[in-house]
Amino acid sequence: MSLADACLTCGACCASYRVSFYWGEATGAPQGHVPSELTESFHPHLLCMQGTNQREPRCIALVGAIGEQVSCSIYPDRPSPCREFAMSIDGSNPYCDKARAKYGLLPLISVHEVA
Ligand code: SF4
Ligand code: SF4
Repeated sequence: MSLADACLTCGACCASYRVSFYWGEATGAPQGHVPSELTESFHPHLLCMQGTNQREPRCIALVGAIGEQVSCSIYPDRPSPCREFAMSIDGSNPYCDKARAKYGLLPLISVHEVA
């Protein structure tokens, strides 16, 4: 597996953080693309992915086993926070490292160095 495919055997961020975004990104809005039925209201102007606004988050759209094999069932239509969340190849995204650590996964920089 290449480093570029690391997310396919991880998925930790999809089960670590609240994924919230402007309501206009969902299909309930004229130009929206995120399936509204997979979201819930979080704030007057914000939605979040179902399953992510809870003590042990896990996005409803995450398929598979974290740390083994995962996919996003709405990948082409995922909301902006997911598109902007970068894997921490060079240690640049501590939230990626932190999410991986929560599931007992090494930071990607360590995986890359031992590969
Ligand atoms: S925690 Fe990092 S490596 Fe894991 S799926 Fe998210 S971005 Fe990819
Ligand atoms: S929408 Fe997809 S990429 Fe975003 S948190 Fe959910 S499973 Fe992860």
